[in-house]
Amino acid sequence: MIASVLPTYSRAPLHFVKGEGSWLIEADGRRFLDLGAGIAVNALGHAHPVLVEALTSQAQNLWHVSNLYQIPQQQQLADTLVEHTFADTVFFTNSGTESCELAVKMARKYFYDKDQPERVEIITFDGAFHGRSSAGIAAAGSEKMTKGFGPLLPGFVHLTFGDLDGVTNAISDKTAAILIEPVQGEGGIRPVPDAEMKALRQICDENGILLIFDEVQCGVGRTGKLFAHEWSGVTPDIMMVAKGIGGGFPLGAVLATENAASGMTAGTHGSTYGGNPLGCAVGNAVLNEIAKPAFLAEVNRKAGLFRQKLEGLVASHPDVFSEVRGSGMMLGLKCVSSNMELVQAGFDNQLITVPAADNVIRLLPALNLTDADIEAAHDRLDRAASQVSAA
Ligand SMILES: *Cc1c(COP(=O)(O)O)cnc(C)c1O
Repeated sequence: MIASVLPTYSRAPLHFVKGEGSWLIEADGRRFLDLGAGIAVNALGHAHPVLVEALTSQAQNLWHVSNLYQIPQQQQLADTLVEHTFADTVFFTNSGTESCELAVKMARKYFYDKDQPERVEIITFDGAFHGRSSAGIAAAGSEKMTKGFGPLLPGFVHLTFGDLDGVTNAISDKTAAILIEPVQGEGGIRPVPDAEMKALRQICDENGILLIFDEVQCGVGRTGKLFAHEWSGVTPDIMMVAKGIGGGFPLGAVLATENAASGMTAGTHGSTYGGNPLGCAVGNAVLNEIAKPAFLAEVNRKAGLFRQKLEGLVASHPDVFSEVRGSGMMLGLKCVSSNMELVQAGFDNQLITVPAADNVIRLLPALNLTDADIEAAHDRLDRAASQVSAA
Protein backbone atom coordinates (compact mmCIF):
# COMPACT_ATOMS: atom_id res chain seq x y z
CA MET A 1 0.00 0.00 0.00
CA ILE A 2 1.34 3.42 -0.91
CA ALA A 3 2.39 5.65 1.97
CA SER A 4 -0.01 8.48 2.75
CA VAL A 5 2.83 10.88 1.94
CA LEU A 6 3.81 10.34 -1.71
CA PRO A 7 7.00 8.27 -1.36
CA THR A 8 9.33 10.44 -3.49
CA TYR A 9 11.87 10.99 -0.71
CA SER A 10 14.20 8.59 1.08
CA ARG A 11 14.02 10.02 4.55
CA ALA A 12 16.34 9.42 7.50
CA PRO A 13 14.52 8.23 10.62
CA LEU A 14 15.03 11.56 12.39
CA HIS A 15 12.18 13.65 13.80
CA PHE A 16 13.26 17.16 14.64
CA VAL A 17 10.91 19.03 16.89
CA LYS A 18 12.81 22.24 17.59
CA GLY A 19 15.65 24.34 16.25
CA GLU A 20 17.98 26.76 18.04
CA GLY A 21 20.62 28.54 15.93
CA SER A 22 22.76 25.81 14.37
CA TRP A 23 21.22 23.05 16.47
CA LEU A 24 18.28 20.74 15.88
CA ILE A 25 16.59 18.87 18.70
CA GLU A 26 15.30 15.35 18.01
CA ALA A 27 12.04 14.12 19.51
CA ASP A 28 14.13 11.88 21.81
CA GLY A 29 16.00 14.94 23.13
CA ARG A 30 19.31 14.46 21.29
CA ARG A 31 20.91 17.68 19.97
CA PHE A 32 22.22 17.56 16.38
CA LEU A 33 24.63 20.11 14.94
CA ASP A 34 22.99 21.24 11.70
CA LEU A 35 25.49 21.69 8.85
CA GLY A 36 22.74 21.36 6.26
CA ALA A 37 20.49 24.29 7.24
CA GLY A 38 17.61 22.78 5.27
CA ILE A 39 19.94 22.72 2.23
CA ALA A 40 21.20 26.30 2.48
CA VAL A 41 17.80 27.65 3.50
CA ASN A 42 18.10 28.55 7.19
CA ALA A 43 20.77 31.14 6.46
CA LEU A 44 20.43 32.72 9.93
CA GLY A 45 19.93 29.42 11.73
CA HIS A 46 16.77 28.22 13.41
CA ALA A 47 14.37 30.50 15.27
CA HIS A 48 16.49 33.63 14.89
CA PRO A 49 14.78 36.20 17.15
CA VAL A 50 14.78 38.93 14.47
CA LEU A 51 13.04 36.60 12.00
CA VAL A 52 10.60 35.32 14.59
CA GLU A 53 9.69 38.93 15.36
CA ALA A 54 9.34 39.85 11.66
CA LEU A 55 7.12 36.83 11.00
CA THR A 56 4.89 37.07 14.05
CA SER A 57 4.36 40.80 13.92
CA GLN A 58 3.43 40.62 10.23
CA ALA A 59 1.18 37.61 10.97
CA GLN A 60 -0.82 39.71 13.38
CA ASN A 61 -1.57 42.28 10.67
CA LEU A 62 -1.83 40.77 7.21
CA TRP A 63 -0.72 37.43 5.75
CA HIS A 64 -1.78 37.60 2.15
CA VAL A 65 -3.19 40.01 -0.36
CA SER A 66 -3.30 39.53 -4.09
CA ASN A 67 -0.74 41.07 -6.40
CA LEU A 68 -3.73 43.00 -7.75
CA TYR A 69 -2.92 45.46 -4.96
CA GLN A 70 0.12 47.33 -3.63
CA ILE A 71 2.32 45.32 -1.25
CA PRO A 72 4.72 47.65 0.59
CA GLN A 73 6.79 44.79 2.07
CA GLN A 74 7.38 43.50 -1.47
CA GLN A 75 8.27 46.97 -2.74
CA GLN A 76 10.78 47.37 0.07
CA LEU A 77 12.42 44.00 -0.57
CA ALA A 78 12.67 44.74 -4.29
CA ASP A 79 14.21 48.16 -3.57
CA THR A 80 16.81 46.61 -1.25
CA LEU A 81 17.73 43.91 -3.79
CA VAL A 82 18.04 46.51 -6.55
CA GLU A 83 20.15 48.72 -4.31
CA HIS A 84 22.59 45.89 -3.49
CA THR A 85 22.88 44.15 -6.87
CA PHE A 86 23.27 44.48 -10.65
CA ALA A 87 19.50 44.29 -11.00
CA ASP A 88 17.00 46.97 -11.94
CA THR A 89 13.88 44.94 -11.28
CA VAL A 90 12.67 41.92 -9.26
CA PHE A 91 9.83 39.40 -9.52
CA PHE A 92 9.01 37.35 -6.42
CA THR A 93 8.30 33.61 -6.45
CA ASN A 94 7.93 30.95 -3.76
CA SER A 95 10.73 28.60 -4.77
CA GLY A 96 13.82 28.08 -6.86
CA THR A 97 12.06 26.09 -9.53
CA GLU A 98 9.52 28.88 -10.05
CA SER A 99 12.43 31.28 -10.43
CA CYS A 100 13.81 28.97 -13.12
CA GLU A 101 10.48 29.06 -14.95
CA LEU A 102 10.51 32.84 -15.11
CA ALA A 103 14.19 33.09 -16.03
CA VAL A 104 13.52 30.84 -19.05
CA LYS A 105 10.34 32.69 -20.02
CA MET A 106 12.04 36.08 -19.67
CA ALA A 107 14.97 35.10 -21.89
CA ARG A 108 12.68 33.79 -24.62
CA LYS A 109 10.34 36.78 -24.46
CA TYR A 110 13.32 39.12 -24.74
CA PHE A 111 14.24 37.72 -28.15
CA TYR A 112 10.64 37.34 -29.27
CA ASP A 113 10.18 41.06 -28.72
CA LYS A 114 13.44 41.75 -30.55
CA ASP A 115 12.00 40.04 -33.66
CA GLN A 116 14.26 37.02 -33.13
CA PRO A 117 11.63 34.45 -32.13
CA GLU A 118 13.94 31.63 -33.28
CA ARG A 119 16.27 32.38 -30.35
CA VAL A 120 14.84 29.98 -27.78
CA GLU A 121 17.76 27.75 -26.83
CA ILE A 122 19.36 27.89 -23.44
CA ILE A 123 22.79 26.38 -22.83
CA THR A 124 23.20 24.49 -19.53
CA PHE A 125 25.84 22.23 -17.96
CA ASP A 126 26.06 18.71 -16.60
CA GLY A 127 25.75 18.39 -12.84
CA ALA A 128 23.41 21.39 -12.83
CA PHE A 129 20.28 21.56 -10.73
CA HIS A 130 17.57 24.08 -11.50
CA GLY A 131 14.54 22.59 -9.75
CA ARG A 132 11.90 19.96 -10.46
CA SER A 133 9.40 21.75 -12.70
CA SER A 134 9.19 20.77 -16.36
CA ALA A 135 11.56 23.60 -17.30
CA GLY A 136 13.86 22.83 -14.36
CA ILE A 137 14.36 19.17 -15.22
CA ALA A 138 14.68 19.88 -18.94
CA ALA A 139 17.30 22.53 -18.14
CA ALA A 140 19.38 20.14 -16.00
CA GLY A 141 18.74 17.29 -18.40
CA SER A 142 20.07 14.44 -16.28
CA GLU A 143 18.49 11.03 -16.80
CA LYS A 144 17.86 10.75 -13.05
CA MET A 145 15.52 13.75 -13.16
CA THR A 146 13.98 13.45 -16.63
CA LYS A 147 13.45 9.72 -17.24
CA GLY A 148 9.77 8.92 -17.67
CA PHE A 149 8.65 12.53 -17.69
CA GLY A 150 8.72 13.19 -21.42
CA PRO A 151 8.00 14.89 -23.65
CA LEU A 152 10.57 17.25 -22.17
CA LEU A 153 10.36 20.99 -22.66
CA PRO A 154 12.51 21.56 -25.76
CA GLY A 155 15.17 24.21 -26.21
CA PHE A 156 17.97 23.21 -23.84
CA VAL A 157 21.49 22.41 -24.99
CA HIS A 158 23.50 20.42 -22.44
CA LEU A 159 27.26 20.83 -22.27
CA THR A 160 30.06 19.46 -20.13
CA PHE A 161 30.80 21.53 -17.01
CA GLY A 162 33.88 23.65 -17.67
CA ASP A 163 33.91 23.10 -21.44
CA LEU A 164 34.32 26.66 -22.76
CA ASP A 165 35.14 25.54 -26.30
CA GLY A 166 31.90 23.59 -26.21
CA VAL A 167 30.04 26.79 -25.34
CA THR A 168 31.53 28.71 -28.25
CA ASN A 169 30.71 25.86 -30.64
CA ALA A 170 27.17 25.43 -29.31
CA ILE A 171 26.16 29.04 -29.92
CA SER A 172 24.01 29.50 -33.00
CA ASP A 173 21.30 31.84 -34.26
CA LYS A 174 18.91 29.85 -32.04
CA THR A 175 20.75 30.60 -28.77
CA ALA A 176 19.00 32.85 -26.26
CA ALA A 177 21.03 32.41 -23.09
CA ILE A 178 23.58 30.57 -21.00
CA LEU A 179 22.29 29.33 -17.63
CA ILE A 180 24.81 28.38 -14.94
CA GLU A 181 25.21 28.08 -11.17
CA PRO A 182 28.29 30.12 -10.14
CA VAL A 183 28.88 27.32 -7.60
CA GLN A 184 27.14 24.05 -8.39
CA GLY A 185 25.37 22.72 -5.30
CA GLU A 186 23.68 19.39 -6.05
CA GLY A 187 26.44 18.73 -8.59
CA GLY A 188 28.97 18.39 -5.76
CA ILE A 189 30.03 21.93 -4.70
CA ARG A 190 31.81 22.79 -7.93
CA PRO A 191 32.72 26.50 -8.20
CA VAL A 192 33.03 28.01 -11.67
CA PRO A 193 36.53 29.60 -11.80
CA ASP A 194 36.54 33.41 -12.08
CA ALA A 195 38.28 33.26 -15.46
CA GLU A 196 35.47 31.06 -16.76
CA MET A 197 32.81 33.39 -15.38
CA LYS A 198 34.50 36.26 -17.24
CA ALA A 199 34.76 34.19 -20.42
CA LEU A 200 31.06 33.32 -20.29
CA ARG A 201 30.16 37.00 -19.91
CA GLN A 202 32.36 37.86 -22.87
CA ILE A 203 30.84 35.11 -25.03
CA CYS A 204 27.35 36.39 -24.18
CA ASP A 205 28.28 39.99 -24.98
CA GLU A 206 29.93 39.07 -28.28
CA ASN A 207 26.90 37.09 -29.37
CA GLY A 208 24.22 39.37 -27.96
CA ILE A 209 22.80 36.62 -25.74
CA LEU A 210 21.76 36.65 -22.10
CA LEU A 211 23.68 35.30 -19.12
CA ILE A 212 21.52 33.74 -16.41
CA PHE A 213 22.95 32.83 -13.01
CA ASP A 214 21.19 30.35 -10.76
CA GLU A 215 22.11 31.57 -7.28
CA VAL A 216 19.33 29.67 -5.54
CA GLN A 217 21.87 27.78 -3.43
CA CYS A 218 25.06 29.89 -3.63
CA GLY A 219 23.40 33.29 -3.15
CA VAL A 220 22.35 35.42 -0.16
CA GLY A 221 25.68 35.53 1.67
CA ARG A 222 26.45 31.82 1.30
CA THR A 223 29.90 32.34 -0.25
CA GLY A 224 30.78 35.42 1.82
CA LYS A 225 29.53 37.94 -0.74
CA LEU A 226 25.85 38.82 -0.97
CA PHE A 227 25.85 36.94 -4.29
CA ALA A 228 28.49 34.45 -5.41
CA HIS A 229 29.07 36.03 -8.82
CA GLU A 230 30.44 39.16 -7.10
CA TRP A 231 33.74 37.30 -6.48
CA SER A 232 34.35 37.20 -10.25
CA GLY A 233 33.42 40.81 -10.90
CA VAL A 234 31.00 39.59 -13.57
CA THR A 235 27.28 40.30 -13.49
CA PRO A 236 24.45 38.38 -15.15
CA ASP A 237 21.44 39.71 -17.05
CA ILE A 238 19.04 37.54 -15.08
CA MET A 239 19.50 35.82 -11.72
CA MET A 240 17.45 33.18 -9.92
CA VAL A 241 17.28 33.37 -6.12
CA ALA A 242 15.42 31.35 -3.46
CA LYS A 243 16.48 29.19 -0.47
CA GLY A 244 18.44 31.56 1.85
CA ILE A 245 16.45 34.68 0.93
CA GLY A 246 13.49 33.49 3.03
CA GLY A 247 15.60 32.14 5.90
CA GLY A 248 13.14 29.21 6.08
CA PHE A 249 10.01 30.90 4.77
CA PRO A 250 9.23 29.84 1.18
CA LEU A 251 10.42 32.78 -0.91
CA GLY A 252 12.22 33.17 -4.21
CA ALA A 253 12.99 35.89 -6.70
CA VAL A 254 14.16 36.61 -10.20
CA LEU A 255 16.42 39.65 -10.52
CA ALA A 256 17.07 41.22 -13.91
CA THR A 257 18.45 44.22 -15.72
CA GLU A 258 15.97 46.59 -17.28
CA ASN A 259 17.08 45.41 -20.72
CA ALA A 260 16.68 41.66 -20.02
CA ALA A 261 13.29 42.23 -18.41
CA SER A 262 11.98 44.45 -21.19
CA GLY A 263 9.57 41.83 -22.55
CA MET A 264 7.85 41.21 -19.24
CA THR A 265 5.02 43.70 -19.45
CA ALA A 266 1.70 43.68 -17.55
CA GLY A 267 -0.08 40.34 -17.85
CA THR A 268 2.92 38.33 -19.13
CA HIS A 269 3.64 36.59 -15.81
CA GLY A 270 2.15 36.27 -12.35
CA SER A 271 1.90 34.32 -9.11
CA THR A 272 -0.78 34.10 -6.45
CA TYR A 273 1.57 33.86 -3.49
CA GLY A 274 4.79 35.30 -4.89
CA GLY A 275 5.81 38.34 -2.87
CA ASN A 276 3.09 38.05 -0.24
CA PRO A 277 3.38 40.29 2.85
CA LEU A 278 4.35 37.46 5.22
CA GLY A 279 7.15 36.13 3.02
CA CYS A 280 8.47 39.59 2.19
CA ALA A 281 8.42 40.70 5.84
CA VAL A 282 10.74 37.78 6.59
CA GLY A 283 12.80 38.38 3.43
CA ASN A 284 13.37 42.00 4.45
CA ALA A 285 14.56 40.90 7.88
CA VAL A 286 16.92 38.29 6.36
CA LEU A 287 18.40 40.69 3.83
CA ASN A 288 18.82 43.54 6.33
CA GLU A 289 20.92 41.19 8.43
CA ILE A 290 22.97 39.49 5.70
CA ALA A 291 23.68 42.54 3.51
CA LYS A 292 25.50 44.27 6.40
CA PRO A 293 29.22 44.50 5.55
CA ALA A 294 30.05 43.50 9.15
CA PHE A 295 27.88 40.38 8.85
CA LEU A 296 29.55 39.33 5.58
CA ALA A 297 32.99 40.04 7.06
CA GLU A 298 32.15 37.62 9.87
CA VAL A 299 30.95 35.00 7.38
CA ASN A 300 34.32 35.26 5.63
CA ARG A 301 36.33 35.10 8.85
CA LYS A 302 34.43 32.03 10.06
CA ALA A 303 34.54 30.41 6.64
CA GLY A 304 38.34 30.77 6.71
CA LEU A 305 38.47 29.18 10.15
CA PHE A 306 36.12 26.37 9.12
CA ARG A 307 38.06 25.65 5.95
CA GLN A 308 41.33 25.49 7.87
CA LYS A 309 39.78 22.93 10.25
CA LEU A 310 38.47 20.93 7.30
CA GLU A 311 41.88 20.93 5.58
CA GLY A 312 43.28 19.49 8.83
CA LEU A 313 40.55 16.86 8.84
CA VAL A 314 41.36 15.80 5.27
CA ALA A 315 45.05 15.61 6.20
CA SER A 316 44.34 13.39 9.21
CA HIS A 317 41.84 11.12 7.40
CA PRO A 318 43.28 10.62 3.91
CA ASP A 319 41.54 7.23 3.72
CA VAL A 320 38.15 8.95 4.19
CA PHE A 321 38.38 12.39 2.57
CA SER A 322 40.32 13.42 -0.50
CA GLU A 323 39.58 17.14 -0.76
CA VAL A 324 37.86 20.24 0.61
CA ARG A 325 36.18 22.36 -2.05
CA GLY A 326 33.79 25.25 -2.33
CA SER A 327 33.55 28.88 -1.39
CA GLY A 328 32.73 30.61 1.91
CA MET A 329 30.13 28.62 3.83
CA MET A 330 29.32 26.50 0.79
CA LEU A 331 31.77 23.70 1.38
CA GLY A 332 32.14 20.15 0.19
CA LEU A 333 34.24 17.22 1.37
CA LYS A 334 35.00 14.75 -1.38
CA CYS A 335 34.85 11.25 0.07
CA VAL A 336 37.08 8.31 -0.72
CA SER A 337 34.46 5.68 0.05
CA SER A 338 30.69 6.27 -0.08
CA ASN A 339 29.45 9.74 0.85
CA MET A 340 26.23 8.15 2.14
CA GLU A 341 28.31 6.20 4.66
CA LEU A 342 29.65 9.51 5.97
CA VAL A 343 26.25 11.14 6.13
CA GLN A 344 25.11 8.15 8.22
CA ALA A 345 28.22 8.30 10.45
CA GLY A 346 27.39 12.00 10.90
CA PHE A 347 23.91 11.09 12.13
CA ASP A 348 25.48 8.57 14.52
CA ASN A 349 27.54 11.46 15.93
CA GLN A 350 24.61 13.91 16.03
CA LEU A 351 25.75 15.85 13.00
CA ILE A 352 23.73 16.79 9.90
CA THR A 353 25.49 16.92 6.53
CA VAL A 354 23.95 16.70 3.07
CA PRO A 355 25.08 14.37 0.26
CA ALA A 356 25.72 15.72 -3.24
CA ALA A 357 26.80 14.25 -6.58
CA ASP A 358 30.46 13.41 -7.25
CA ASN A 359 30.66 11.55 -3.91
CA VAL A 360 30.69 14.74 -1.88
CA ILE A 361 29.14 15.66 1.46
CA ARG A 362 27.96 19.24 1.63
CA LEU A 363 28.49 21.53 4.59
CA LEU A 364 26.05 24.44 4.31
CA PRO A 365 25.77 25.73 7.87
CA ALA A 366 23.86 28.72 9.11
CA LEU A 367 25.94 31.74 8.11
CA ASN A 368 25.94 32.95 11.70
CA LEU A 369 27.21 29.76 13.30
CA THR A 370 29.58 30.45 16.18
CA ASP A 371 33.27 29.65 16.53
CA ALA A 372 32.23 27.04 19.11
CA ASP A 373 29.86 25.50 16.53
CA ILE A 374 32.79 25.27 14.10
CA GLU A 375 34.84 23.52 16.78
CA ALA A 376 31.94 21.12 17.40
CA ALA A 377 31.59 20.54 13.65
CA HIS A 378 35.26 19.60 13.42
CA ASP A 379 35.07 17.24 16.39
CA ARG A 380 31.95 15.48 15.12
CA LEU A 381 33.28 15.17 11.58
CA ASP A 382 36.50 13.79 13.05
CA ARG A 383 34.56 11.15 14.99
CA ALA A 384 32.39 10.32 11.99
CA ALA A 385 35.52 9.91 9.83
CA SER A 386 37.18 7.65 12.42
CA GLN A 387 34.03 5.55 12.52
CA VAL A 388 33.98 5.16 8.70
CA SER A 389 37.72 4.44 8.76
CA ALA A 390 37.35 1.68 11.36
CA ALA A 391 34.41 0.06 9.56
C1 LIG B 1 17.33 24.02 -4.68
C2 LIG B 1 17.71 24.57 -5.99
C3 LIG B 1 16.75 24.88 -6.97
C4 LIG B 1 15.30 24.56 -6.80
O1 LIG B 1 14.74 25.24 -5.73
P1 LIG B 1 13.33 24.74 -5.11
O2 LIG B 1 13.01 25.80 -4.12
O3 LIG B 1 13.58 23.40 -4.51
O4 LIG B 1 12.36 24.69 -6.21
C5 LIG B 1 17.19 25.46 -8.14
N1 LIG B 1 18.48 25.73 -8.35
C6 LIG B 1 19.44 25.45 -7.43
C7 LIG B 1 20.85 25.80 -7.72
C8 LIG B 1 19.09 24.85 -6.23
O5 LIG B 1 20.03 24.55 -5.34
